[in-house]
Amino acid sequence: MTRQIYLDNAATTATYPEVVEAMLPWFTERYGNPSSLYEFGQSTKAALIDARERIAAHLGAPAQDIYFTACGTESDNWALKATAEAYANKGKHLITSAIEHHAISHTTEWLEKQGFEVTYLPVNADGLVNPADLAAALREDTTLVSIIFANNEIGTVQPIKELAAIAHERGALFHTDAVQAVAHLPINVEELDVDLLSASAHKFHGPKGVGLLYIRKGLKTRSFLHGGAQERKRRAGTENVPAIIGMAKALDLCMERFDERIAHELELRDHLINRVLAEVEHVRLNGHRTLRLPNNANFSFEFVEGESLLLTLEQKGILASSGSACASGSLDPSHVLLAIGLPHEIAHGSLRLSLGEATTREDIDYTVEAIKEVVERLRQMSPLFEDFIHGKKALSAVR
Ligand code: PLP
Repeated sequence: MTRQIYLDNAATTATYPEVVEAMLPWFTERYGNPSSLYEFGQSTKAALIDARERIAAHLGAPAQDIYFTACGTESDNWALKATAEAYANKGKHLITSAIEHHAISHTTEWLEKQGFEVTYLPVNADGLVNPADLAAALREDTTLVSIIFANNEIGTVQPIKELAAIAHERGALFHTDAVQAVAHLPINVEELDVDLLSASAHKFHGPKGVGLLYIRKGLKTRSFLHGGAQERKRRAGTENVPAIIGMAKALDLCMERFDERIAHELELRDHLINRVLAEVEHVRLNGHRTLRLPNNANFSFEFVEGESLLLTLEQKGILASSGSACASGSLDPSHVLLAIGLPHEIAHGSLRLSLGEATTREDIDYTVEAIKEVVERLRQMSPLFEDFIHGKKALSAVR
């Protein structure tokens, strides 16, 4: 049987068995509604309070500023739509970056249709936003700036504290989509001085279908779901109790083993990057070399089509992700890869490998050998590579 090597932890992570175990009683024995006044409901409420406090402590936030949602996408939608609306009498200008996840970029596009104006900050070749560009884009009528903490494709980590300070100096609020960052980078909302922050449990070994939005006390953001009084009347709907308890347990475990987990991922990530760059020709690393997620490696292989690479690697048991979005029904290369300046044909040959705690050095060595073999095989079939070999044409115009 082919071994399976899961290198797509940015897409989702395995739920820790301890998390599943912590969740189970809340489906079966302790299923009371936290809004019910009798003890069977109130004990569920107490468990929710405890989960909120633990999660808040890991993020350096007061417990009452953590709001539970159904996913990172909901948190992003809430942060942008409700805040833009609440502050619309001050201004209708928002700022974001060109490399946001679609949960942000499709939301800002929707807001543009509702009469808001949005500035999309460019990034440099490493995927970094220039703080001077943010300073220049801020206006009297800018109410909210939203910048992704760590990019889900290329892994680049932004200078969030500096960007938030610039926004605040000019009277704008600051949101960050930290879905890829929470539990992978040290995060303290008070130290970073952000007003809103989104996270999602399934990216850190929690269950799918639960996320959170940190909303700084005193912020005027509107209610997102109207109905009951849950989540301080800002997000109605009976709480997903087992999932919230699972999210708290997952974050506890991730933070308990933070140092060794991250050191392990960093070592393997660098081993992977060093080997691929040294042993494969005509390849580039996408994203910043050091200011990147500890578990992310993203490469572009010239003369190779990313989808073919992905499918051939799958035959060898390696599960990864490509930089073109064919899988999501579009043939366009990723907007993130285009934003860092990759030409279409190179962006199409991209591969994201995202490691996890369970990844081993043997997994990485097996993967590098597989990449070498598959890239060579695919290039043999590429007319562009043949032209290149015969000196007719060089594709590599990038850096
Ligand atoms: N934001 C980023 C940066 C992400 O990577 C993702 C998921 O891939 C999301 C938002 C959406 O999170 P969810 O899957 O919980 O809706």
